[in-house]
Amino acid sequence: MRILVTGGAGFIGSHLCERLLKDGHDVLCLDNFFTGCKTNVASFLGGSRFELIRHDITEPILLEVDRIYNLACPASPVHYQYNPVKTIKTNVMGAINMLGLAKRVKARILQASTSEVYGDPEVHPQPESYWGHVNPIGIRSCYDEGKRVAETLMMDYHRQNGVDVRIVRIFNTYGPRMAVNDGRVVSNFIVQALRGEDITVFGDGSQTRSFCYVDDLVDGLVRMMECDEGPGPVNLGNPAENSILEFARQIVSLTGSQSRIVYAPLPADDPKQRQPDISLARHLLGWEPAVPLTVGLQRTIEYFATLGSAL
Ligand code: NAD
Ligand code: UDP
Repeated sequence: MRILVTGGAGFIGSHLCERLLKDGHDVLCLDNFFTGCKTNVASFLGGSRFELIRHDITEPILLEVDRIYNLACPASPVHYQYNPVKTIKTNVMGAINMLGLAKRVKARILQASTSEVYGDPEVHPQPESYWGHVNPIGIRSCYDEGKRVAETLMMDYHRQNGVDVRIVRIFNTYGPRMAVNDGRVVSNFIVQALRGEDITVFGDGSQTRSFCYVDDLVDGLVRMMECDEGPGPVNLGNPAENSILEFARQIVSLTGSQSRIVYAPLPADDPKQRQPDISLARHLLGWEPAVPLTVGLQRTIEYFATLGSAL
């Protein structure tokens, strides 16, 4: 098949492109390089089945494709809050443009949604049936509400125009090719530990997250795209839950770093707990994560350690 990956030069997108190329597909990687970069996809560039397109999904584009993975959107709070209006435009106008393309060429489209649609959840762990607890006017809402509207658009194009859609709600994912300046907790802690700098825990570190290794996540994305029972939404994430303080201690121990753990103010609206209920993914896709946290973290630490002077 010919497959479009928007946000394909980003962290998850580049791993997805790699997997789709391995599966024998032609891959069109579309990106505006806001948080992604050419080096993430440099090793695929020579191949005849890979094409890189510099484009912003807030503008329409005409292509002939069989599948669309819509991943384009900055995912780190630091980056999505840098230009919040642009973040909403990317989520809303981007989804409209990609749905318009899917409708025109009769392609199946998968939307990368997020656990952030559950906001600061009052139900724990979070099943897909939970409608969420999102602040609509806070500093995270450009992302959270943007993704919620993208889900709404997927469902409305599906009901109104018969577009073949899939929605996945991705929980915190980590791995090689996260940007050094990404700003999310996994890359921040590893980079700080490898540099011997203080490790900055926001708040008292009692808030929790559940971390999924990128290869597991990508496998879930492909299974959902090729599953005949759409449209979802389906949660994809690793149910193993950690407090951020425990996580900081684990990074110190795995890197053998001399870094101290220090505390900084908790950002506004930071969710207190997050853990996916993946019963639906297990049942529908036969999917569950296979890579334990310590193994995934070791691979990620190795990746950052090899960056040398770029770290
Ligand atoms: P990332 O920031 O590494 O990748 C996003 C990519 O989208 C980048 O390459 C960026 O340049 C590109 N992009 C941004 N705006 C664009 C635009 N207007 N037009 C074209 N390209 C644009 O983030 P990621 O972690 O790889 O996340 C990928 C997707 O998965 C995002 O949609 C994100 O919301 C979703 N997601 C990720 C996580 C996670 O933990 N990594 C969790 C939930 C959801
Ligand atoms: N966090 C932290 N130190 C950092 C970066 C993040 O303590 O240097 C915390 C953050 O406050 C949040 C958790 O780690 O509670 C996960 O943050 P991240 O930005 O990775 O993702 P999200 O909040 O979107 O889940």
